[in-house]
Amino acid sequence: MSAAHRVLVVGAGGLGSPLLRLLAVAGGSRVEHITIIDDDLVEESNLHRQTLYSSEDVGRSKIERAAGTLRDLSPGLSVRTVQGRFVPDTAMELLSDHTLVVEGADNLATKFLVADAAHLAGVPAVQAGAIRWAGWALCALPDSACLRCLFEDIPRDRIETCAEAGVVGPVVGVLGGLEAALVVRVLRGERPGGELWHYDALAGALRKTLVRRRSDCPLCAGEIQDLRVERYTAACAA
Ligand SMILES: [Zn+2]
Repeated sequence: MSAAHRVLVVGAGGLGSPLLRLLAVAGGSRVEHITIIDDDLVEESNLHRQTLYSSEDVGRSKIERAAGTLRDLSPGLSVRTVQGRFVPDTAMELLSDHTLVVEGADNLATKFLVADAAHLAGVPAVQAGAIRWAGWALCALPDSACLRCLFEDIPRDRIETCAEAGVVGPVVGVLGGLEAALVVRVLRGERPGGELWHYDALAGALRKTLVRRRSDCPLCAGEIQDLRVERYTAACAA
């Protein structure tokens, strides 16, 4: 793995902020290019956890502000921005020329879509989620356990998103950093596939467990062969 790497980052919010900063300056792992996709504007109420932005950025496009900061941090870095959501129609095309995808979306539908698209494309996926004072990060390699080995499917009843329930800044700071560490390890040729990191800020506990591939996982067992839209609409956060 000595080639230069192209990384797709889905979400430039609370998790994406520390993650993007760290990847931009991760010289030893040869990140040559970062594509950022997000559809949001910077909001005052999110500044406490979206540490890539300042009060001057309020009302402006997150990806444009993020790209500007990354180019300042690392002038040689190639950065592409995609204004929009990560959706089934364009997921495979976006993934196609990237070494790895890392996700910090604020809703479960996007998390499952990233997991499915990465698996179908044979690309490693680093994913994370956080709510209130706790969260998790998972590394899925094409031959390791995936998000669906862990959670199976989007819950059919309505669930809270972090935008509704709130998440504290230090939690996404830690988890975005853990995601960056997993990305760097994969790019350096290590195999952290199936590693699940769980962080509970109130309990002061960071724990690593190894998730094993489930024989009845619909994604790993090959039942899921396409990205049909219905799969990702059930709990899509409004
Ligand atoms: Zn699986």
